[in-house]
Amino acid sequence: MNTYKCSVCGYVYESEEIYDKCPVCGAPRDKMMELDQEAKDKVYNSDVTNDIHMDIITLAASLIELCEDGIEENLDPTCVRAFEISKNLAWQIKQVSKAELEKHVQKGKW
Ligand SMILES: [Zn+2]
Repeated sequence: MNTYKCSVCGYVYESEEIYDKCPVCGAPRDKMMELDQEAKDKVYNSDVTNDIHMDIITLAASLIELCEDGIEENLDPTCVRAFEISKNLAWQIKQVSKAELEKHVQKGKW
């Protein structure tokens, strides 16, 4: 089994044969490159941490929504303030994981 990567969109797939075109973006065959062992290791080793970052981003997004619901309830100023602080912290958590994921993509750790 070989591993190929689309140089246009970054889609990685395993196959005996190289595809005629990318199943994701439709780029032609000559845009596919075969990954060597080092590149493959990078892709697979980062799968777990990428998933963790994705989970953190999803959880943080839920937190932000919850805080917005709380702000909308507008019970009293200190309660609204508490939700605003939490919303800001959740947004920061989300941005940290997003920034790290972006670095992984740039380094081919995807
Ligand atoms: Zn593609």
